[in-house]
Amino acid sequence: MGRVIGIDLGTTNSCVAVFVDGEILVLANSEGGRTTPSVVAFTESGERLVGQIAKRQAITNWEHTAVAVKRLIGQRFDAPAVVDTRSHVSYEIVPSPTGDAWIRLRGRDYSPPEISAWVLKKMKQTAEDYLGEECNDAIVTVPAHFNDAQRQATKDAGRIAGLNVLRIINEPTAAALAYGTSHGRDGLYAVYDLGGGTFDITLLQMSDGVFEVRSTSGDTFLGGEDFDRLLVDMLSKEFLEAKGIELREDRMALQRLKEAAEKAKQELSSATGTEINLPFITSGPQGPLHLIRSISRSEYEGIVEELVEKTLGPCRDALKAAGAKTNDIDEVILVGGMTRMPLVQARVGEFFGRAPNREVNPDEVVAIGAATQGGVMRGEVADVLLLDVTPLTLGVETQGGIFTPLIPRNSTIPITVSEIFTTAVDNQPFVEVHVLQGERALVRDNVSLARFQLTGIAPAPRGLPQIDVSFHIDPNGLVEVTARDLGTGRETAVQVNAASGLSEADIYRIVEEADARRIDDESQRELVELRNKAEGLMYTSERSLQEYASVLPASDQEAVLSALAYCRQVLDQHMGVEEVRGALSALEDAAYRLADAMYANLGGQG
Ligand code: AMP
Repeated sequence: MGRVIGIDLGTTNSCVAVFVDGEILVLANSEGGRTTPSVVAFTESGERLVGQIAKRQAITNWEHTAVAVKRLIGQRFDAPAVVDTRSHVSYEIVPSPTGDAWIRLRGRDYSPPEISAWVLKKMKQTAEDYLGEECNDAIVTVPAHFNDAQRQATKDAGRIAGLNVLRIINEPTAAALAYGTSHGRDGLYAVYDLGGGTFDITLLQMSDGVFEVRSTSGDTFLGGEDFDRLLVDMLSKEFLEAKGIELREDRMALQRLKEAAEKAKQELSSATGTEINLPFITSGPQGPLHLIRSISRSEYEGIVEELVEKTLGPCRDALKAAGAKTNDIDEVILVGGMTRMPLVQARVGEFFGRAPNREVNPDEVVAIGAATQGGVMRGEVADVLLLDVTPLTLGVETQGGIFTPLIPRNSTIPITVSEIFTTAVDNQPFVEVHVLQGERALVRDNVSLARFQLTGIAPAPRGLPQIDVSFHIDPNGLVEVTARDLGTGRETAVQVNAASGLSEADIYRIVEEADARRIDDESQRELVELRNKAEGLMYTSERSLQEYASVLPASDQEAVLSALAYCRQVLDQHMGVEEVRGALSALEDAAYRLADAMYANLGGQG
């Protein structure tokens, strides 16, 4: 097994770490950042941008910049949380042919795993650049509260990125693993993880290298994005009242507001006051309008307090599920960028009756934990055993649309349970099983994972056939089903119709397309470089021409002017690599004549 990289694929930022010579290293990307924005954009010329460079141009290219895609991964288009997200993102969310939430950028529809794969590829590249070798094996983390569809979709993203995802682990578990292996104190830990898009709370017992998750709870739609939104809503409401213009309907203004809200939030973690200053945010009948607003930390805390309070419900729930009280907790570990906020630290401290531990870097600890698990799988880290739980109840549909649980949430994984199914009418050749995840009593309120058909049942009176179906949750939290006809002892075919996600054929097509597009991508990069070079040479030639026109023979002047005009035309008309190369080479020839004349003139003077 080659090296195993650990990737924290975050809503806002991603991070990659690797175990090298007994040490875990967090790796810096090509721009020097230890975390990489999980942002993908397509420019007007079709160039794909990933990471910091994509984030930087989000204000001017808001419609074609995909942010916080993790909120859509493994989700149905009509899921309530997606309906809510649709009105708050600047890009278009569309239904896929099978009803999943997909993203439209520059007129093409992409599945969230495809977009996430570009972020994962960048993380893979970061590791390869550092290690100087190919890195194909990875551990990827997900919020503890992700269901099977979200985990499956994350795994698909890994496959599209050319990664062999050895294990999917939960973010809080990874954080505890990183903290526990480096600090090595046994006890009951509470890991409070508030990131850009999701909230998780996990209670975990560590003793002698065994990390046993006792319970987990959370909210996959509660994170920094929601904090920013509350401030955006307040600012735009004030603006509407004062100026009569709804800024949220102007996507460019909305994007600027969002960035300013996030910046203010971050500044207020260290300063007690800040100013939001957005000149020319829009214009009214009297001309341009600006948004300038001071905000103090206490005012901000008043606005977002309800969200911080909202995280405490799952904390109570996790304690109850683990049969623990707050004073049983030995250590509270904070994970995720949002835990830098003083109000979060204070409320969590009050709730657990102890100051949270601040020894870990909340942005990096999850990737470090993933790399630690990589070290465990390669045998480099000894005496560590991870026992995680399933965050959601797994069950099947029974008569009348009732959800009947089979594996309760917080069961230690891997786990297998069996259930006997039979026929409802004489000579029925198949039985249909509908598998779901969730905590609600009725089928319609839970997440549908798949429908299975147990086929090939021999003709028999109703109720006689006995089909033993095993539901297995593997260490990744992924669900598998197998079935056996007890009458014949034969394995029964299970035909899976996953309720959502990419099919094998989809993944194959996307990977093939990416391979085919690699050449396109490379020529796209070459085109951009050539265009930049041409722009630069045009600029210097124009200036030299102005300065030295008097010493340049008319024929040479003409040659430079016509090469410049041709270059401009080729660039303005967005012509291809060959045309730009041709125009650049002609301009270079003309520029040499210009240089010759300049130096001859200087020589003459000397
Ligand atoms: P993560 O998903 O862990 O990278 O967390 C990202 C979230 O943390 C984003 O919403 C950031 O705006 C937020 N964040 C990062 N730094 C700070 C800070 N200093 N204060 C408050 N929030 C922050």
